[in-house]
Amino acid sequence: MKIQYLCPQCHPEPRKSSIVTLRDLFEVEQKQISDNGIHPAKCDKGHEFVIIFEAAKFETLFDIGMNALRDGYPREAVSSFTASFERFLEFYIRYVWHLKKIEPSIIEKTWKLMENQSERQLGAFISLYTVEQKESPPCLSNEKSKFRNKVIHKGYIPSINEAINFGKTVYEIILEIVIKLENWPNNSLLDFYFSQTPKYPEEYKFVINHSPQAICLARKFENSYKVEFNKVLKYFDINYSS
Ligand SMILES: [Zn+2]
Repeated sequence: MKIQYLCPQCHPEPRKSSIVTLRDLFEVEQKQISDNGIHPAKCDKGHEFVIIFEAAKFETLFDIGMNALRDGYPREAVSSFTASFERFLEFYIRYVWHLKKIEPSIIEKTWKLMENQSERQLGAFISLYTVEQKESPPCLSNEKSKFRNKVIHKGYIPSINEAINFGKTVYEIILEIVIKLENWPNNSLLDFYFSQTPKYPEEYKFVINHSPQAICLARKFENSYKVEFNKVLKYFDINYSS
């Protein structure tokens, strides 16, 4: 996935406009998104600045999946949606530990015990969710898990529509859980969320801030996180025929 930008010193005003307008007005620059979400850049005139993709890992991975769908790579989309879901489970687990005021050093030590085994993470999530919410968590159905394994481990090449359906399921599960988290008493969801997004490097005077398009906990529509997946498909210019 590439992020688009203009030098904030060469184009100080348009920086405030939407990227769609920018694309129409100027030749925008592009950068491959990095793992840490921080992208130092320099324009032709030597102006230095940094582009921050301000997102939790699961949000970035979901956007990457949507871009893969738009570009016609359904296998890669399913792989990114799967990774997004797994990182969201980590987000959930860490948030519960944060609410329980577990020491950061204990959190890291405990996470190491499950870091390399996604089944352990899933088990931890299912267990914590059941204790906290007093109900079973929404999860991928057996059918969807089989589909994911067929794509990831058996080389199955899904159709775009199959990948869209898988993405829709992951999207809806994540949002359902986010809404539960938001409605918890004494929640500090946004504080925790911003602790999981990239930190602004202080050495840069000029910063361009990008937000994820599909899932973004820092943004609500009409006071709700709930946006229909069909609308999200439209943001990414993806046509869907069920
Ligand atoms: Zn410049």
